[in-house]
Parts: sequence; structure tokens; C-alpha cells
Amino acid sequence: MSKVWFVGAGPGDPELITVKGRGLIEQADAILFAGSLVSQAAMRWAKPGCAVEDSKGMDLEQIVAWLIDKAQNGQTVIRLQTGDPGLYGALIEMVQPLDEQGIEVGVVPGVSSAMASAAAGVESLTLPEVTQTVILTRVEGRTPMPEGESLPELAQHHCTLCLFLSITLLKKVQADLLEAGWSPDAPVLVVHKASWPDEEKVIRGTLNDIREKCRAEKINSQAMIIVSPTIGARDWTELKKSKLYDKNFSHRFRKATHKTVHET
Ligand code: SAH
Repeated sequence: MSKVWFVGAGPGDPELITVKGRGLIEQADAILFAGSLVSQAAMRWAKPGCAVEDSKGMDLEQIVAWLIDKAQNGQTVIRLQTGDPGLYGALIEMVQPLDEQGIEVGVVPGVSSAMASAAAGVESLTLPEVTQTVILTRVEGRTPMPEGESLPELAQHHCTLCLFLSITLLKKVQADLLEAGWSPDAPVLVVHKASWPDEEKVIRGTLNDIREKCRAEKINSQAMIIVSPTIGARDWTELKKSKLYDKNFSHRFRKATHKTVHET
């Protein structure tokens, strides 16, 4: 039976696709990739004769029609998507029409650009006693935000915020975070084309100056904004250590020399 696989290609570096995703690409008869961000290099594993097409310029109906057509011909079909398919990837809009046709669907997760951006900056999105929470969100643009999810509301948690699809809206990011009580000096990390060989740019700044810095670097697309009280922790002199490796702290797999067992 034919199957359509939604495969996360990762953030750009072709080596950041999963082993499973790569294996499926090697077997696939037809691959439709999201052109703007998925590196063409990810296609280096497609077998000869595999139909490879860029979905740039296709609307949702055309994408779905392409996938259904190939699947109905009994082919193994891949929709190759940037990062993880479950984040801002229109996954469900594509899956529903396939379900209607009785076509089997599988999803292979991918390395999201949020993770690749943190990695690019050698940042941890969580730190003990600083923040233990990460919010993946976006600023309201053409897509309206559901109630309770505006940036000023989410920012009130003062946890880590990874902002997708928002680089052209840095002015709003600044205003919203200041409104939520963040300091103008709060550190901000912007990563353009995280993990792309030779193209990645890491910009560090504050809420105050990050917009200027991004403008100077001409960054206005394909960028992740991370605002977090953890940014820059690599240079901190006083750091609360994670309990995970504390010799006085046990978890399920390791017994402490003294003290009782806790959840990490
Ligand atoms: N599913 C993707 C997100 C798609 S939405 C994922 O999991 O990463 C597209 C947005 O993702 C862009 O506007 C940008 O904010 C972010 N993005 C995608 N690839 C990126 C990369 N290599 N570097 C930085 N940001 C990226």
C-alpha cells in the first residue's frame, strides 16, 4: 500500500536530517520539498529516477493533489519539510485530504530551527533556577493569535521564548516585551539560517539594539529570535548547577551517596 511520509528535513544542514528520514529519501519514488528553506543538498540521497519537485509556487490544493496523484500510483511519497513538520508546517491541512482518500500517512520528526539556533549560539534554553520553560511561538502577523497567546501575555512568564516567523516584526517584539516588564537590556539572540553551511549568522544584542544590529546585517528572513533569561549564560561566573549530575542527588538510574531519591 502506498504511503505519504511527512519528513522533517531539519533546519538546513543536510546532516541534521534523521537517519530514518534519510532512509526514506533513499527509498522514495517521489519527493516534494518546501523550497525556500529545505536545502537542496538534502536531496543528495534520492535514488535515480525519483521525481523531485519544489513546492515553491504551489498552493495547498496543488501540493495535496501532487501527493495524492503520486500515492495513488502506488509510489512511496515524501513531503520534505523544514525543521519539524509539526511546527508551522500546515501538516494537518495536508493530512486531512489524504485521510479522506484513505491514503496512509507517516510523520518523521525533524530538528527544529529553534533547537538549531540555540545550538548555534551554544545556549541552553533551560537553566536551573533561571527558567525551566520554553515557549515556541510567533508574533501576530497575518495569522491572528488565539486568545491569551499575544506576546505581551506569553512574555509575562519571563521564560524562554523562541519566536518563529517574526524577524520582520522586531519592533513589535521590542514593544511587547517591554510592556511585559522585560528590561531594555535583556539579551536577545537572533540566528539567521541556523546550521546552514557557510551561511549561518549569529547576532547577539539586547531588546534595545537587536533591531539595529539585524538591520545592519540585512537580516529580514529565515531567522529565529530567542529571548531568554538564559542567553549568554556561558559567560556567567555564578551558575546554579543542574541536579542531574549532582553527587548528592539521585534519580532512577543513579543512587546518591546520601540523601533521598527525587524526580529530576
Ligand atoms: N517547521 C520549522 C518552522 C517553519 S516556519 C521548524 O521546525 O523549524 C519558518 C520559520 O522558521 C522561519 O520564519 C524562521 O523563523 C524559522 N526557521 C526555519 N529554518 C531556520 C533556520 N535554519 N534558521 C533560523 N530560523 C529558521
